[in-house]
Amino acid sequence: MLTPDHKCQKCQHEMEEGFIADVTYGAVVTSKWIEGEPEKSFWTGTKTKGKRHVEILTFRCTNCGYLESYAK
Ligand SMILES: [Zn+2]
Repeated sequence: MLTPDHKCQKCQHEMEEGFIADVTYGAVVTSKWIEGEPEKSFWTGTKTKGKRHVEILTFRCTNCGYLESYAK
């Protein structure tokens, strides 16, 4: 939790914490922020080796559905 009273920027309603899931090879993983531009790789789709990975935390407004993401 970043702040106990995370409010929506659009409607000031309360937001709930969660994450955006990626489904890969039948597994569910959290989306990650990766530094730099995406480089295409024949084997893995996009090259991510040697780059910084940061898990993304996403807050969802329970009223309007607005999403706010943090990569910390
Ligand atoms: Zn809202």
